[in-house]
Amino acid sequence: MKVLVAAPLHEKAIEVLKNAGFEVLYEEYPDEGRLIGLVGDVDAIIVRSKPKVTRKVIEAAPKLKVIGRAGVGLDNIDLEAAKERGIKVVNSPGASSRSVAELVLALMFNVARKVAFADRKMREGVWAKKQCMGIELEGKTLGIVGFGRIGYQIAKIAKALGMNVLLYDPYPNEERAKEVGGKFVDLETLLRESDVVTLHVPLIDATYHLINEERLRLMKPTAILINAARGAVVDTEALVKALQEGWIAGAGLDVFEEEPLPKDHPLTKLNNVVLTPHIGASTVEAQMRAGVQVAEQIVEILRG
Ligand code: NAD
Repeated sequence: MKVLVAAPLHEKAIEVLKNAGFEVLYEEYPDEGRLIGLVGDVDAIIVRSKPKVTRKVIEAAPKLKVIGRAGVGLDNIDLEAAKERGIKVVNSPGASSRSVAELVLALMFNVARKVAFADRKMREGVWAKKQCMGIELEGKTLGIVGFGRIGYQIAKIAKALGMNVLLYDPYPNEERAKEVGGKFVDLETLLRESDVVTLHVPLIDATYHLINEERLRLMKPTAILINAARGAVVDTEALVKALQEGWIAGAGLDVFEEEPLPKDHPLTKLNNVVLTPHIGASTVEAQMRAGVQVAEQIVEILRG
């Protein structure tokens, strides 16, 4: 059996494949032409968000039985073409949940205590003690919009911090809510009552600009908004206005409607915003888990 690893993969994942007796061929991000040349005799391909596994690539791989995506999101794989040939597609959606949750906590504390702002001022030689009055998170209300894998991880940490947890999800998991001491409410109530609102919904038609001007206006003027889901879940223009005009107090953003965020974007001019470049899943542990989970599924499938 031969596996083509077409994107950087944790060494533990490579080990899983080799221990199963598979031959591993590695080439980082080959383009379509090169990929077509490589897949002639492979049984499996592993990719990340790149390279693209197109219909042409699939047609050039007569032995292909499984495509592995280390991570979430399958938009770089032609699922229709794979299905037609009976090729299985596997991924590792839960591998980064804890990492995203921990980044969300980092953003929450950072905005609440103005850490990034203070750091910028220190580097300018300014001792900005007076401008850095913050708030504690204990006793505050955290509103989690989308109570799935990541939302649940955040709720567990929030409970340990002594925060009250409000939840909004059209498919409520009451058992998990009970476990974290969270309460399901409608979105408007969550926005009105939360001191911190964090978004963990997939980007679908129903969640495009879910947080728009009208909903931002429902939030407390002291509230913080965190978005580590997808940029387009928030109407950026409305958010900039909300932050400039003080409808809310601050925001922590890991994702943007346009990525990379353009250099002079209005968000970069605001002191009450903390920005990170889509690094929710960027931890050693998440990358290792993503690779190993995909490799293990491939071993299982190829061994039948
Ligand atoms: P998940 O599928 O486990 O959870 C999503 C939850 O959202 C589900 O419970 C679902 O019922 C709920 N939902 C669906 N439509 C909704 C709506 N209209 N309103 C409220 N809730 C709704 O997904 P997850 O693993 O928790 O990931 C959530 C999102 O986080 C992903 O879709 C992805 O966009 C994003 N993500 C970001 C990073 C990053 O690097 N920042 C990394 C991984 C995932």
